[in-house]
Amino acid sequence: MRRRSSFLTQQEKANRPKISKELIKRISSYLKPYFKHLILVVLIIITSSILKIVPSILTGRIIDDGLIKRDFNMLLILIGLSVGVTLLGNIIGLIESYVNTWVSENITFNMRNEMYRKLQSMPHRFFTTNNQGDIITRMTSDISGVKQVISSTYTSILSSVITLVVATVAMFQKNWILGLVGLVIVPLFVIPTRSAGKTRWTLTNEVQKTSDEINGILNETLSVSGQLLVKLFNRHDFEIDKYEQTNEKMIGLHIKQSMAGRWFRVMIGTFSSIGPMLIYLVGGLIMMQVDSTLSVGDITVLVALLSRMYQPVNALLNTQVEVIRSMALFTRIFNYLDMDVEIENNETALSPNTFSGNIEFKDVNFGYDDSREILNGINFSLDAGKSIAIVGPSGAGKSTIINLLLRLYDVSSGAITFENHNVKDLDLAFIRDQIGLVTQDTYLFNASILENLMYANPMASFNEIVEACKKANIHEFIDSLPLKYETQVGNRGLKLSGGEKQRLSIARALLKDPTVIVFDEAMSSLDSIAENLIQEAIEPVIKEKTSIVIAHRLSTILAADEILVMDKGEIVERGQHFELLKLDGLYNLLYETQFKVSEELELQI
Ligand code: ATP
Repeated sequence: MRRRSSFLTQQEKANRPKISKELIKRISSYLKPYFKHLILVVLIIITSSILKIVPSILTGRIIDDGLIKRDFNMLLILIGLSVGVTLLGNIIGLIESYVNTWVSENITFNMRNEMYRKLQSMPHRFFTTNNQGDIITRMTSDISGVKQVISSTYTSILSSVITLVVATVAMFQKNWILGLVGLVIVPLFVIPTRSAGKTRWTLTNEVQKTSDEINGILNETLSVSGQLLVKLFNRHDFEIDKYEQTNEKMIGLHIKQSMAGRWFRVMIGTFSSIGPMLIYLVGGLIMMQVDSTLSVGDITVLVALLSRMYQPVNALLNTQVEVIRSMALFTRIFNYLDMDVEIENNETALSPNTFSGNIEFKDVNFGYDDSREILNGINFSLDAGKSIAIVGPSGAGKSTIINLLLRLYDVSSGAITFENHNVKDLDLAFIRDQIGLVTQDTYLFNASILENLMYANPMASFNEIVEACKKANIHEFIDSLPLKYETQVGNRGLKLSGGEKQRLSIARALLKDPTVIVFDEAMSSLDSIAENLIQEAIEPVIKEKTSIVIAHRLSTILAADEILVMDKGEIVERGQHFELLKLDGLYNLLYETQFKVSEELELQI
């Protein structure tokens, strides 16, 4: 066992899973529902492995009883039998691959669904921390790897072992000396298989790495934003060079890989022809000098049986690697399935019938991780029908407050309450139903405007949709498009301007008709006309609905009932515009440097 571990790469060796009883038990739990099918597969494999050996044994009788005895009838019967058995073996093999494929597809179907469900329940932190590529790999190639393991690795082990046992027994039964000769030859296969295996693994891993590199280049440089960056910085030639160099490396690896395979085949081919020669040599000696009852047919059978052993020996030599690799796949998948969902409904989660919009933050402290506190002693209450504007320098913790409000993260200490219910006791779906969020970074799916809007409320009537779009100041624009609401918005909504996307996302939030609406106002990334259109949409909503706005523009701030001024994770000032100006503190500074500018811009229009 230890010797053959060199088939694995250093990384695989380092991450080698512990093959524990629990792991085997857990893997078996996925196979359990298909137990009957798997038994059928095993039976079929046993039958077809035995049937595959029969024609080799019949060859001896064809030679001795048919050809040498010149008995044509017997020859016909034996040939017919041999063809029939081969045919039967192949038909049974067909059934085996159907059942096998069916079982492996079903197991991976269940696994894939379980994984997707798990990923959907993972906290926001998981998606901000983990590499998106890794998540997709787990969902796609890891699970496909599992399918491969179930459908081919384990069946190949089983059929190889059975074929080997049957062929060895049959050889020893024919002639034990020749049986021993056959066994002596087997190690000769081990040497080239081992060394070619090593080279092939190294190459396979290098190919995999280079292929990841190529995918990375393609992903980054052919995405909309990446391509724009390449154009803006005139980096075409640099990117083309980089791509061509990596591609060239790949070609070299592919050629090496193909040659390693050829060399391997030459070695195996040589040993495959030496084996029969040894049997002929030793068999001939025995037949001529020791045991005259050993027939030509017997020697032919032994040669045929020996060649039957090559393939299973070969397959089994690679098995340990396959088994370890498959255990690693299962372990990686199970690690994902076992991950802490962190934020979930407790058993008695509430969905109160009434929630008018009263929200309170009581002594809230929070950090994304233990190393740094982001919010410190946050206290404020939002009364139903009222609006709060949060202002402060970048990084003060404004968006973090919204993250906590939506329970994307849990507070480290203190409490957030909705109508005196701690959010931790409320149903997560209830919380998210109550709050409509319009973020700076508007995400739209690559679908039509209508489909994007209905994502918020699949039951909305067309009239309601138009109404929401009118309030969000976007209906006129949509109506002017040739395909109107059926217009495709493109990748991430990139066929729309920033302002249009934001107004569409306001319409989407309004369509959800939440109790509390939250705006994370964009920081003047738009021109004044576009901003004004958004402003006209936001202001009436702030006045009508319970709302929180992370505000960057004076008119939004003035529309709110209370202003919270944040700095370094704390609320440092609070009140109304003129009161805050009088304090001559941070608000005043922000007013002079930011808000006043936006006010002047508005006045210019
Ligand atoms: P801005 O006005 O620039 O959007 P903000 O006041 O909304 O800033 P936050 O986004 O709340 O600030 O960020 C507050 C601090 O928390 C920042 O220092 C930021 O680096 C950190 N932070 C934000 N999101 C995360 C995260 N997911 N993981 C770790 N740290 C984070």
